[in-house]
Amino acid sequence: MKKKIIAYNRVETPVLEDLQKKYDVYFYKNIDTKTDPLFLEHLSEAQGIIGLELEVDKELLEHAPHLEIVSNVSVGHNNLDMEQLTERGIMATNTPDVLTDTVADTVFGLLISTARRIPELDQLVKNGEWKTEAIEPEYFGTDVHHKKLGIIGMGRIGQAIAQRAHFGFDMDILYHSRTRKPDVEEKFSATYCTLDELLSESDFICLITPLTPETEGMIGKREFQLMKKSGIFINGSRGKTIVEQDLIDALKTSEIAAAGLDVFEKEPVNAINPLLQMKNVVTTPHIGSSTYETELKMSELAAHNLEAGLNGRKPPNLIDESVWKT
Ligand code: NAP
Repeated sequence: MKKKIIAYNRVETPVLEDLQKKYDVYFYKNIDTKTDPLFLEHLSEAQGIIGLELEVDKELLEHAPHLEIVSNVSVGHNNLDMEQLTERGIMATNTPDVLTDTVADTVFGLLISTARRIPELDQLVKNGEWKTEAIEPEYFGTDVHHKKLGIIGMGRIGQAIAQRAHFGFDMDILYHSRTRKPDVEEKFSATYCTLDELLSESDFICLITPLTPETEGMIGKREFQLMKKSGIFINGSRGKTIVEQDLIDALKTSEIAAAGLDVFEKEPVNAINPLLQMKNVVTTPHIGSSTYETELKMSELAAHNLEAGLNGRKPPNLIDESVWKT
């Protein structure tokens, strides 16, 4: 008998079609996973889950007695209750590495767009408001090159941002992580510092940690106050790593100059969110890894993890290795 799989939100078509040849696959999108009767019925029979941003908590797991593996199509896994999964011996996997450069490109794109006010000035041109041949100083931006960049979370993506900043833009790099990284310091002439030092000394601050109980709300009122008034803050991590209301206040009171945001406390972002009314805020709809090439690679890797787990092989990207019993 074929094993049963739930695919959720996003698995790229060629990968989904391949899985459908080998398993009974039930694809769901935009449903209430707590109440949808058909989803709950399929969940009660499923051995595997593959997909994006499915909230896998105690309640969901109680409906999934046959579940062997949850394969996230993302590197972030804050949607998974790892304690519950491990307690039940259920494997969980993610998709690191294949998206690193693409997310770093997005973060750097946001940084440049915010510094040089590209979306705002694009609108000005398209609205027919470019009136004088030489643009007025009120529309000038600020340089990116040779400035000081603070990276919070010097992991895979943090390092790919550092690479762009150091080799491409001659930026000075400060970083803060749980651990010091001598190889990174040497490679990018980066300086390790405390969070407070990073916040007060950087011209640009990129936040790219995972969302965990320790990082939730790690950048709030106090942290925005420590930043330079000319500081530009970029969030590529998860919306809840910052206190969004404190960011709104910091921008309103000119505590910082501008922000570039790929992630929000609530997604999709509420249309009446004040951040959307601010010219000095550049937004993107959580598109860190959203290119054709990278999304396909992520789906392929997630399917590879899923199939390994379902067929008695150790998945290459187990989040908690302790569930693997040799
Ligand atoms: P990673 O290699 O695991 O790097 C995470 C880094 O964050 C590590 O350097 C880690 O420090 C640091 N960190 C963790 N907790 C911290 C804390 N409390 N204080 C300071 N630093 C802390 O992960 P990655 O592949 O770079 O991905 C990072 C995150 O980016 C993901 O978890 C996800 O949330 C986000 N992301 C967003 C998008 C998007 O679409 N916007 C796409 C992909 C990923 P140590 O090295 O010292 O452990």
